Amino acid sequence: MNGKSTPRLATSGKPAPAATLKTAAELEVMREAGRIVAFAVRKAFGALEQGITTRELDDITRRAIESEGAKPGFLGLYGFPATACISINEEIVHGIPGDRVVQAGDLVTLDCGVIVDGYNSDYAVTQVAGPSTALKDDLVDTTRESLEKGIEAARPGNRVGDISNAVESHVLPKSYEMVREYVGHGIGKNLHEPPQVPNFGPAGQGLELRPGLVLAIEPMVNVGKWRTRMLDDGWTVVTEDGALSCHFEHTVAITEDGPKVLTAE
Ligand code: MG
Ligand code: MG
Repeated sequence: MNGKSTPRLATSGKPAPAATLKTAAELEVMREAGRIVAFAVRKAFGALEQGITTRELDDITRRAIESEGAKPGFLGLYGFPATACISINEEIVHGIPGDRVVQAGDLVTLDCGVIVDGYNSDYAVTQVAGPSTALKDDLVDTTRESLEKGIEAARPGNRVGDISNAVESHVLPKSYEMVREYVGHGIGKNLHEPPQVPNFGPAGQGLELRPGLVLAIEPMVNVGKWRTRMLDDGWTVVTEDGALSCHFEHTVAITEDGPKVLTAE
């Protein structure tokens, strides 16, 4: 924690009970919550184009979730007023949907959660609206790949630090920087459970990964420096230097057979 007082959807910002291990039955419910959030975010990105407002994108995610009989996980949580966090360009996380109109070339992150039978999923994707640039394409590819590297390290016997280090090791050669003040987290009946899952740090440290542990792994990568700043709305986190930022997230179960991505359709 960095001393900022506003709750953050990308961190486990609460006093930590022990990490919980989920049963096979619980994992099945979380898999359904993961399927629905992936479906909802895909629907919204299907409508992403110049001229759409972030509120319209948010409405699409909410309707998709409700059409599946599930509940938005973020709406009302810590007072957040929408279904999805929508963060554009230099915004890193926790952007509030509203009247903002998407412009051609905007780097748009949708971060969304779903609750099924009391269990949460958490998922984020970044995509460019319309024409991109080599830099934006590389940032998106690098961030997505770093998440894949982190997922590969989410195996029994490894430690949280092995995930953190796998993510960071993929990004640093590019001279991009990892956001440090917001991190991934355990997830289950609560959106944010222990342990915290940083996107930086040495391998071999932290909690040992055991079957049944479920983690939201979520690299946030900045083109410029790692430092962040919160806007006056008390939610939106931006890069301090105003440079672009990108975010991908999956909810991942550690199983005897290796990592299992729960947030896939
Ligand atoms: Mg998260
Ligand atoms: Mg998220």
